[in-house]
Amino acid sequence: MLDIEKIRADFPILNQQINGKPLVYLDNAATSQKPQVVIDSIVNYYTTINANIHRGVHTLSQLATDAFEQSRIKLQQHFNAKKSHEIIFTAGTTHSINIVATGFTSLLQKGDELIVSAMEHHSNIVPWQMLCERTGAVLKVIPMNQEGELLMDEYDKLLSNKTKLVFVNHVSNALGTINPIKEIIDKAHQFGAAVLIDGAQSCPHIKPDLQALDVDFYVVSAHKLCGPTGVGILYGKEAWLNKLPPYQGGGEMIKEVTFEKTTYADLPHKFEAGTPNIAGVIAFGTAIDYLNNIGFENIAEYETALLKYATEKLSQIEGLKIYGTSEHKTSVISFNIGEIHPYDIGSIIDKLGVEVRTGHHCAQPIMDFYKIPGTVRASFSFYNTFEEVDVLYNALLKAKMMLA
Ligand SMILES: *Cc1c(COP(=O)(O)O)cnc(C)c1O
Repeated sequence: MLDIEKIRADFPILNQQINGKPLVYLDNAATSQKPQVVIDSIVNYYTTINANIHRGVHTLSQLATDAFEQSRIKLQQHFNAKKSHEIIFTAGTTHSINIVATGFTSLLQKGDELIVSAMEHHSNIVPWQMLCERTGAVLKVIPMNQEGELLMDEYDKLLSNKTKLVFVNHVSNALGTINPIKEIIDKAHQFGAAVLIDGAQSCPHIKPDLQALDVDFYVVSAHKLCGPTGVGILYGKEAWLNKLPPYQGGGEMIKEVTFEKTTYADLPHKFEAGTPNIAGVIAFGTAIDYLNNIGFENIAEYETALLKYATEKLSQIEGLKIYGTSEHKTSVISFNIGEIHPYDIGSIIDKLGVEVRTGHHCAQPIMDFYKIPGTVRASFSFYNTFEEVDVLYNALLKAKMMLA
C-alpha cells in the first residue's frame, strides 16, 4: 500500500484551504495536480539550461536538446514504443488527434467509413466530423448499454472492408469505463482499418504496452499525468507516421527549403514544426519518472480500493444515481442526486472545500444517452484519501438537505 501522507507532501497545492476549508481536490479527470519535482523541473530548466533546441552548436543548446530528447526516450520506454521517433511531442491529446484527422484527409475517399464510440470526449469526435466533411467519409457509432459499456456485438456489425479508421478512448472521462481496446484493435485490423486510442484518461491509472496492443496511434496529455499543461504525445507506428503528411509547416520540420520546393525532415521532426514547449516536455519526463517510482500497479491497487469505498459510501445517499457502473472502471464517479441540478451541488460543496466537476464533461452524447443535462463527477487520484471520501459524502448530504 502507498504511503499517502508522504505522497501528499510532494504536492504543495494540496496543503491549503479553499473557502476556509481544507482543499479536497476531486477533479483529477480534468487535470491532475503537480508534484514538487515537476514544478522544480520547469524552474530548473529556465534557471539553468534554457536555449532553443536542435539548432545551436553552443553548449546550452546542446544541454537543452539532450534533456528534451531524454524525455522522448523516457516516454518511449514508458509506453514501450518500438522506436523513439514514433513519439511525437504535441500540445496534448486534442492536438494529437487533430494531427491524425487532418493527415487522413488525402487518404480517404467518399463512402469510406470511420467508427467512433458512443462515449467519447468531444476532442475524439469533432476532428473526425470535420474530416468527414472534407472527404465524404461516413461516421458510425458503437452504441453502449446503461452500465456505460460498449456493445461489442454492434461493433462487429459496423466493421467492414469500408472501415478505414476506428477511434475509441481507452477510458471514458465521464464514466470511468475501461474499454476492451485490445479486442477493438484486433477486430479493426482484420479489416485493414487503423486504430487511434485516446489515452488521455487511462494513462494516469494504467501503463499501456503499445507494442503488445499493436495500436496504430495512441494519444496522451501530460497534464492528466502529473505533468504540465500544453504538452502531450502522439504515438504512431512508424509506417503510419511516414504515410501521413505533415500537419504544420515551419522551422524544424524541413530538410531543405527553396522557393521551388521543400523537403520534409524525418520523424519525429516532420510533426514538430516550430519551437516546442521545451520546459513542458522535460517536465513531462520528470512526471513519468515520478509516477514510475510510485509504481502503476501500486497506484491502480490503491485507486481501486478508494473507488470501491467511495462507490459504497456515496450509494448510501438516498436518490443518488451513479452513471457508469461497469466492473471495469477507473476511479471516476459520475452521479446525480434526484432531480437536483449538478451545478447546484457543485457550487455548494465548493463552499465546503470540495472541488468536483459538474456538467457534460465534454461528452454531450453520453448525457443525451442518459437523458440528463449533466452529472457531478468526483474523480480520484492516488493522492486522495479515504477521509476525503468521507468529507465528500458529508458535503453531499449537506447539499442535498439544502436543495431537496
Ligand atoms: C482530457 C481528455 C481529452 C482532452 O485532452 P486535452 O488535454 O484537453 O487535449 C480527450 N479525451 C479524454 C478521454 C480526456 O479525458
